[in-house]
Amino acid sequence: MQHQSKLPNVGTTIFTVMSALANEHKALNLSQGFPNYPSSQKLNDFVSRAMNNGYNQYAPMAGNLDLRLAISNKYQLLYKSTYHTEKEITVTAGATQAIYTIISAFIRQNDEVIIFKPAYDCYEPSVKVNGGTVIPIQLSAPDYKVEWEDVASKITPKTKMIIINSPHNPSGTIWSKDAMLQLQKITKDTNIIVLSDEVYEHIVFDGEQHQSACLFEDLKQRSFITASFGKTFHNTGWKIGYCCAPEHLMSEFRKVHQFNVFSVHHPSQKGIADYMQDAETYLSLNSFFQQKRDLFLSLISESRFKFKPSQGSYFQVLDYTAITDEYDVDFAKRLTKEFGIASIPLSVFNKKGKDDNVLRFCFAKTDETLVKAAEILCKI
Ligand code: PMP
Ligand code: GLN
Repeated sequence: MQHQSKLPNVGTTIFTVMSALANEHKALNLSQGFPNYPSSQKLNDFVSRAMNNGYNQYAPMAGNLDLRLAISNKYQLLYKSTYHTEKEITVTAGATQAIYTIISAFIRQNDEVIIFKPAYDCYEPSVKVNGGTVIPIQLSAPDYKVEWEDVASKITPKTKMIIINSPHNPSGTIWSKDAMLQLQKITKDTNIIVLSDEVYEHIVFDGEQHQSACLFEDLKQRSFITASFGKTFHNTGWKIGYCCAPEHLMSEFRKVHQFNVFSVHHPSQKGIADYMQDAETYLSLNSFFQQKRDLFLSLISESRFKFKPSQGSYFQVLDYTAITDEYDVDFAKRLTKEFGIASIPLSVFNKKGKDDNVLRFCFAKTDETLVKAAEILCKI
């Protein structure tokens, strides 16, 4: 039997490759982004309670109502922004499914989608498999600054969507209010949909504010916001997330969502809804992760790696130009095999051939792991 791949150039994700290599060599795994400490006992208990209380059949297609209410309340509390629980919030199987479903609900053959590179790895294949064309805008280390004239010049009548991500994976940079206003300005009076991937919204450092797309009224009207409880509540394996959008967008989203997943794990949704009644569960994340970032950076300050402190997310990018000029994928693999520490090379998220000689390290780890990691990095 013969078939032609729809994604001929797609291999296994770098996260899977590097985690497998870390396991094989028993290396410290600071590559794939997941915590190595337990998720909250209280949250686990709430999920068990939901199971014992009968939340074991299909959740409503849009998600458990208590959870949609908790999400809606959060947008009021943090951004004074209203999302209607019935029509504008849908619970998904992680942000990944939300992103795929948004793209497949709107992208047709030859539609253009602008993506800023380095870009989280699920955006591009999701566009391509739906027949769209990716228009990449390459940004550079260490600031990953957007040139807005460049973005404006890439917008054509075929531009259907722009995907943004702040706090940004992999660079750990955040978008300013001014950047969001620029985006609002260049999309005004167009039919462009914005997909704002905000999975790290609660992990922003040094007193900065997360600039959610919902804070900008015109932007909000054309935006999907995607979020991930895996990132917020330290349980990436549960794969629960959600998206919010105005009704005219969400109604199209649900036409696809009801057939590609229908609904997601019900007891987890109810447990998370109960847990979110206390806003501290998500408001405390900034300081929790800032302490980890600061510990990690203070311990490697004497190493040969150079860095700008991460502004948000739980990733720190380290520049290794003072050590070697090796291709970053080769260097990341060598560090795993020879030094016992795994990271993620950034070039895999870039346009082909762009290598800034930087690696991404995940600091969502116990302090003990961060101390061990720093000891290794200081010897390189
Ligand atoms: N977007 C970004 C930027 C991510 O880092 C991740 C990984 N958590 C996702 C989306 C996917 O999130 P989830 O694990 O909830 O599918
Ligand atoms: N979001 C995680 C990261 O950036 C990886 C998720 C995955 O493995 N698909 O490391």
